[in-house]
Amino acid sequence: MAETNLPERTQYVIVGGGIVGCSVAYHLTKMGHTDIVLLEQGQLSCGTTWHAAGLVGQLRSTPAMTNLIRYSTQLYSELEAETGLATGWTECGSVTVARTDDRMTMLLRTAAAARAQGVEVEVITPEEAREKWPVMQVEDLKGGLWMPGDGKANATDLTQSLARGARMRGARIIEGIKVTDILTDKGRVSGVATDRGRIEAEVVINCAGQWARNIGKMCGVSVPLHSAEHMYIVTEQIDGIAPDLPVLRDPDGYIYFKEETGGLVMGGFEPEAKPWGMNGIPDNFFFQLLPDNWEQFEILLENALIRVPQMAETGVRKFYNGPESFTPDNNYLLGEAPELKNFFVGAGFNSMGIASAGGAGRALAEWIVEGAPTMDLFAVDIRRFAGFNNNPSWLHDRVKEVLGLHYAMPWPNRELDSARPFRRSPLYDRLAAKNAVFGSKMGWERANYFAAAPGEGIDYSFGRQNWHEAVAAEHRAVREGVALFDQSSFAKLLVQGRDACRELNRICAGNVDVEIGKTVYTGLLNIRGGYESDLTVLRLKTDEFLLITGSAQAVRDADWLRKNFDESAHVFLTDVTSSWAVLALMGPKSRKVLAKVTKTDLSNEAFPFATVQSIDLGYATVLANRMTYVGELGWELIVPVEFAVGVYEDLMRAGETHGIRDAGYYALEGLRLEKGFRAWSRELTPDITPLQAGLTFAVDFDKPGGFIGREALLAAKSDPDHLKTRIVQMVLKDGGAQLWGGEAVLCDGREIGEVRSAAYGHTLKAATALVQLHAPERVTAAFLSRHMWEIDLAGTRLEAEAHIRTPYDPSGERPRNG
Ligand SMILES: Cc1cc2nc3c(=O)[nH]c(=O)nc-3n(C[C@H](O)[C@H](O)[C@H](O)COP(=O)(O)OP(=O)(O)OC[C@H]3O[C@@H](n4cnc5c(N)ncnc54)[C@H](O)[C@@H]3O)c2cc1C
Repeated sequence: MAETNLPERTQYVIVGGGIVGCSVAYHLTKMGHTDIVLLEQGQLSCGTTWHAAGLVGQLRSTPAMTNLIRYSTQLYSELEAETGLATGWTECGSVTVARTDDRMTMLLRTAAAARAQGVEVEVITPEEAREKWPVMQVEDLKGGLWMPGDGKANATDLTQSLARGARMRGARIIEGIKVTDILTDKGRVSGVATDRGRIEAEVVINCAGQWARNIGKMCGVSVPLHSAEHMYIVTEQIDGIAPDLPVLRDPDGYIYFKEETGGLVMGGFEPEAKPWGMNGIPDNFFFQLLPDNWEQFEILLENALIRVPQMAETGVRKFYNGPESFTPDNNYLLGEAPELKNFFVGAGFNSMGIASAGGAGRALAEWIVEGAPTMDLFAVDIRRFAGFNNNPSWLHDRVKEVLGLHYAMPWPNRELDSARPFRRSPLYDRLAAKNAVFGSKMGWERANYFAAAPGEGIDYSFGRQNWHEAVAAEHRAVREGVALFDQSSFAKLLVQGRDACRELNRICAGNVDVEIGKTVYTGLLNIRGGYESDLTVLRLKTDEFLLITGSAQAVRDADWLRKNFDESAHVFLTDVTSSWAVLALMGPKSRKVLAKVTKTDLSNEAFPFATVQSIDLGYATVLANRMTYVGELGWELIVPVEFAVGVYEDLMRAGETHGIRDAGYYALEGLRLEKGFRAWSRELTPDITPLQAGLTFAVDFDKPGGFIGREALLAAKSDPDHLKTRIVQMVLKDGGAQLWGGEAVLCDGREIGEVRSAAYGHTLKAATALVQLHAPERVTAAFLSRHMWEIDLAGTRLEAEAHIRTPYDPSGERPRNG
């Protein structure tokens, strides 16, 4: 019987009864937490869920995301046995076809990555594709992939089945009730107001689909998503189509197909989407569709007729055009909002909510119960966005591009083009005038490289791209001369207060209780000893520290620190990113250049590595931090934004006789990888410890008071299996090949790892990579030397040398992280 009574209080309120809300309720109850009330303004699944096509494809952009969907497939196959309600799950497999050589290369790369992740996959010819999918025309195809574990489900049935599972264990689900406000008390959520009264709650979980942005606004939480029209058709019956027909994806034509009652569901992801809901999402948009939009659908239909010519003679039974919410980067939003304690979000599913709901629901439930994610979820962590990402005009312009990303070619280094420029450094115009080709990170426009001529853009390919030589010159300038990087996008957090030192020292794995003027490279670890961040801590005063961290980490790191500060401590954190530009002057001649514009003594004795001083620079006064991310002598100059242009001009003038040049992020990547420097979210993740990352030197086990993660690290030290997982450096023996990251790593012919980052090393004269191995025994130098190492580059195996210590280690500067 439908539940109607409203409790006065409960432990958990879930807002939204789509597949995601129901999955969170299901998994919370599975973890033994049953004091749950799920509130749905209409009926279960009435929002976006009911009209989903129900495709469940396992492979996603990161191994962590793939694992979540693999769990979904397992759950969906078992749910009916548990709840007695059918889910329509069919493990029909999927065929993905390639129309071009580039797409085939991409599929081969995908196949290698899939195998490394334990996902079953087979590379097939066009003919084999037709055998699996008989009504397809294959004359124009290069080949394809067969993934037997993919499937399809009925989204509404799945939602009801998850809801039944949650109810069976005690969760209450109330339909026809609207949440009208989120209640807060002293920075925490305290409940919800509804059109039928209030409910006090310890935790509120916002699973309101395309309404989630609005729910967030009720309590000052940014949930950056925007709706777009999304559509498919269902055809009349077609001869030769059986119920167990696999799902077919033809990404070059932007389309997918699945069987439905003897006909086909055909939909897709057109390159330019149509945003929807600019004036707000109507409350009572229950079981509703938008008007048929054949104009928008035309590009999909044209392509479908190429793939299945029979469709030209087949009638259309139904046109489904439903709005779905998309986020700025095509990944969903999960986790506790940094703005409000105990307020969680699971929304913005970018047309993969059915496939993702099982894994995402479990991950969010664990995050809620444990108080932190239990695995690497950075790709979907809501803290990868900031308040400025919630700007409606920006979201509107970005969503047009995001929907099409599903099937767009995932080129290495692919940049999004829409809604840019967004955030600009004070040097933006200067660098643009010098032919900077910009990329975007955390909204910042950042110079990737400097082209020889104006108007050049990136010519995407899986091999060497058009900027290879330009970056080689920047690389050489850093190794042999001097170059200037605009690194203003670095996030900067100022931590002040009488207890600042004590609190930071408890959260940082390194010892930051150092003399004023020292800089410490350290990790921030979780209780499992895994990385939550790595950053540098500059001690400016007794009670004042400046933390410099990655561009994408401002919100997440600030949140991690604030959550871990003792509530009664006298400590304050301010994000000062927008106040300071950072100019990194790097290279063996950097001292000579800097000496021309400052009276400060820059000698090794007066200004040693890992120290920071306030120095005069021309007419400006800046913080100079002797640190490097490229492994050469250099200073990161932290400059008030209004002085940045002047400092830049002074340095360029001073460097002229030394051949100074601008350098960009592509050069930086190659330089850091040659030196084997690890980067957050690539090599350093919440599942990797400093021991596995080879960064034990940056941990102080003996400092007074210990630090978060110490006990786990001590246990790991004595665990003989801990170093079976390890980050190591690899350099290809074939100097001509290009790696990009994501490739599978083979040990004596068997996949045991994955390339996390890769770039061409212009000093080592070969592609160089940092890889994560999961080996059958401890990964040591002896183990590496005993075996044959290869990297699978789109089906071709290339021999590699494996190193625990970097093969590039001249007498130059110590690294930022080593
Ligand atoms: C045409 C189309 C095809 C798709 N095909 C696929 C596919 O093949 N595979 C796939 O994985 N995904 C697919 N999707 C995407 C998928 O449907 C969504 O990602 C998923 O349904 C999102 O689920 P949700 O629970 O987040 O949102 P919803 O289902 O929208 O649920 C949110 C719920 O919150 C409720 N709510 C909102 N505000 C309030 C309030 N104030 N008080 C109480 N309740 C509230 C709403 O009524 C709604 O029921 C498709 C989407 C579309 C549009």
